[in-house]
Amino acid sequence: MDFDLKTNEKGNLKIGEADAVDLAERFGTPLYVIDENRIRDNYKRLYNAFKDYYPNFKMFYACKANTNLAVMKILENEGSGIDAVSPGEIYTSLLAGFEPERILYTGNNVTDEELKFAVESGVRLNLDSISQLKRLSKIPEAKGMEISFRVNPMVGAGHHDHCITGGPLSKFGIKEEEAVEVYKMAIELGFKPVGIHSHIGSGILDPEPFMLAVRTLMDTAGKVHKEAGVEFDFIDFGGGIGIPYTPEESKLDINDFAEKIVDLYKAKLEEYDLGTPTMCIEPGRYLVGDASVLLTKVNTIKQSYRKFAGVDAGFNTLLRPTMYGSYHHIVSASTPLAESTQTIDIAGDVCESGDLFARERPMPEIEEGDILAILNAGAYAFSMASQYNSRPKPAEVLVNNGETDVIRERETFADLFNKQNVPVRLLK
Ligand SMILES: *Cc1c(COP(=O)(O)O)cnc(C)c1O
Repeated sequence: MDFDLKTNEKGNLKIGEADAVDLAERFGTPLYVIDENRIRDNYKRLYNAFKDYYPNFKMFYACKANTNLAVMKILENEGSGIDAVSPGEIYTSLLAGFEPERILYTGNNVTDEELKFAVESGVRLNLDSISQLKRLSKIPEAKGMEISFRVNPMVGAGHHDHCITGGPLSKFGIKEEEAVEVYKMAIELGFKPVGIHSHIGSGILDPEPFMLAVRTLMDTAGKVHKEAGVEFDFIDFGGGIGIPYTPEESKLDINDFAEKIVDLYKAKLEEYDLGTPTMCIEPGRYLVGDASVLLTKVNTIKQSYRKFAGVDAGFNTLLRPTMYGSYHHIVSASTPLAESTQTIDIAGDVCESGDLFARERPMPEIEEGDILAILNAGAYAFSMASQYNSRPKPAEVLVNNGETDVIRERETFADLFNKQNVPVRLLK
């Protein structure tokens, strides 16, 4: 098991040196708890692994994984760039202190207004379609801009069909075989294409599909260089590095991964005479996924046709199990290392039968009032939370060596009605 669970003298789960049971009591549940140092360690481990093999290297945090401003600020402090996928993410990144040059905007199906917003913000633009290129060329301020293109390298990978973003079924990027033509078109339209990008999927724990995408993108870059005369400043392989969610999975060996990718990268740079462009990756999940747990309280133990532990979080709080069928490891915060003595379904409080965190999960004894910790809840967790069933969104607490800060307050009922108006004629 690869989860590094730590306990204190009471036997309670520790997160960033704070007692999980104590946090649940102080701040209420459901509660997202984020370990600051884990984010910093994840960043440094990944960054240094690549930097050691290829110094001209940059990382762009794919902030859709977790857009809390404090989380963004931590990564800003570490020197990261940002991969933004919407105007809202550009806005958030600027607010968190990232300079526009450190933000790469990879939108898909963007409107003219969104393109204009991105241009005016001064961020770097990574284009997803010919349509975008043509519409960008009509924005006067975009004249002569440096741009890049997202290419679909016809390779896809990921932990679920919804997370495969390359290959023939994917909506993302320009077709690989069109690349030369599209770069030529960009030059004719007065742009300066300086980068090439791909992002094939998410949750990848095996170097092979990633290597295949690197190989394909480099072959495309080589062709674009030769046939369209593009000099690349950067080549970006996107994100997708996975983390283990189940006890059976193991961590990707990051040093081995970096070495393999860089070896291939260098060989291809040489093969196509591409110079030494900046190598970029865009990790999201890897940086923040294992840095957070979701604490939730067991409010009901119920023996129906099956045995259920009912908790006060649901797919409104953490969507991944329902949306992707994802496994999240769950431990009791007061007995995280205890042996399992039963199998039990762990269900949320949303009125939908798909609202299940686990089916037939081996667990130790759990009682009403116990706190459960749902692990690996740092990525695509709060950022996908909703108010479904009129449940206010939970709070987020950042822990740093035992010190705690509330980095997002728990919503109240009043927040459910933000922006709603009832027409006066209905107020009779
Ligand atoms: C989502 C996304 C990423 C990050 O994916 P992870 O699996 O979280 O690493 C990187 N680049 C782009 C363009 C994305 O859309």
